[in-house]
Amino acid sequence: MKKSCTWEDHKDGRGTWIMYDARGISCGRVCAECEDAVRAKYRPEIFTNSRYSMPEDDLYWGGMAEDQDDY
Ligand SMILES: [Zn+2]
Repeated sequence: MKKSCTWEDHKDGRGTWIMYDARGISCGRVCAECEDAVRAKYRPEIFTNSRYSMPEDDLYWGGMAEDQDDY
């Protein structure tokens, strides 16, 4: 795990992809540099268990609020 990228690190799109969880819900754009860091923001089970329980708010908004000020 090296760093967390900002959208600017990904803006040319090279070597990046959209990471999806086991339900096919987008977790944002990542690259090899930041994939682990982004993944670490979420509960591991969401990538392996498509039947994971959510409160959505908790998972997708609470978890991302820390270092993203775009919202
Ligand atoms: Zn990145």
